[in-house]
Amino acid sequence: MFQSELLSASLAFEDAAVATCEACPRLCRHACPVAEVDGRESTSPHALVTLSGLLKRARIRAESVAPFIYHCTDCGACTSACLHKNDVPRIVTLARHRLLLERSAPAEVKELCGRFGVAGNPQGRSLRDALDQVSEVSGRPIVSEAPTIYLPGCMTLDRSPQSAIDFLRATSLLGVFGVELARSSDACCGLPLYWAGDLEGFRQHARRIADQFAHVERLIVHDPACALAMRVRYAEVGVHLRARVEHVVPFLAEAFGAEASTPREGATPSWHGVLAIADNCAASRGLELGQTLRSLVRRVSGCEPQEITTLSDREADCCGAGGLLPLTTPILAHEMAMARIETFRTSGGDTLVMPSPRCVAHLREVDPTVNVLDLASLVGRV
Ligand code: SF4
Ligand code: SF4
Repeated sequence: MFQSELLSASLAFEDAAVATCEACPRLCRHACPVAEVDGRESTSPHALVTLSGLLKRARIRAESVAPFIYHCTDCGACTSACLHKNDVPRIVTLARHRLLLERSAPAEVKELCGRFGVAGNPQGRSLRDALDQVSEVSGRPIVSEAPTIYLPGCMTLDRSPQSAIDFLRATSLLGVFGVELARSSDACCGLPLYWAGDLEGFRQHARRIADQFAHVERLIVHDPACALAMRVRYAEVGVHLRARVEHVVPFLAEAFGAEASTPREGATPSWHGVLAIADNCAASRGLELGQTLRSLVRRVSGCEPQEITTLSDREADCCGAGGLLPLTTPILAHEMAMARIETFRTSGGDTLVMPSPRCVAHLREVDPTVNVLDLASLVGRV
């Protein structure tokens, strides 16, 4: 078995987490949206951790683990449900790292790592043109340096650039000055490498990002999965950003004066239609923005948003966009998105609002007719 410095550094944490799961009667089984839709025990959080432990102890062949270990969206539902708060996605990432070291990761994952090596993002090409387009359409210039910089995220620029345009328009409408689009705003945080299991690549990229933004005080990050990775996963590989990382939801909430959770008194609803709202895993579980998100939607629209019921009435479901699931298991990612779209369509809402351009793009790709808006687009349009 190949080893790496990062695997050695994680040893104590990993051993304790694996031992806890192995002794547990699968108490988080109900929480896993992937295993629920997949309908197999072999992709439950308990099974993924058990397989990871066997792989670590070289008691199972890497090729036997590979078909299962990428069945995780990093949604964090198992960690929330776990009495020990076991970080299953982190254990899964360590197993993915071993698969990459053993050259047993799926071909799509190896190709993604290759593309990242070419361009510093999972697209494998420069996103400079996409950033220029966002700047041109939003009317916001690209500056060379600023204390507060907007980071849309590579997925936002590539697949949901309108979300970035709407965020910038929203800040102009609200008269919020100081958050700037910089040349470095086309950077990827490196999360796809973490999800792939390329921990060494992730650490090197995180160091580059830390250097690139060494002069910055605040980074306003649009994709909640990126914001969470920069806050939590960077530290796991020993990288600490100087800048404070903030997601666009609290940033806009503060600008909009949305601490109050009710619509503005006497205000006429500014949204004509019925809004439905859905959580994003990283925003609601990781960054704990569920209430702020709802307050902002109420304040902006003047309406009480419709909560959508979830697959099994879980607090925050997953649409399948994270953890590289759309790349490694597209059928499952498609089914998870369809389940979310169907629950939205039975909610009575006509527009679904989500705080994640990644999820919005995923749902639209699965069903181009679905009426789903990124939260920044809602703010930018009312
Ligand atoms: S993550 Fe927690 S609840 Fe789930 S199997 Fe492991 S110990 Fe049990
Ligand atoms: S993070 Fe989510 S998808 Fe991954 S094992 Fe846990 S509950 Fe399942």
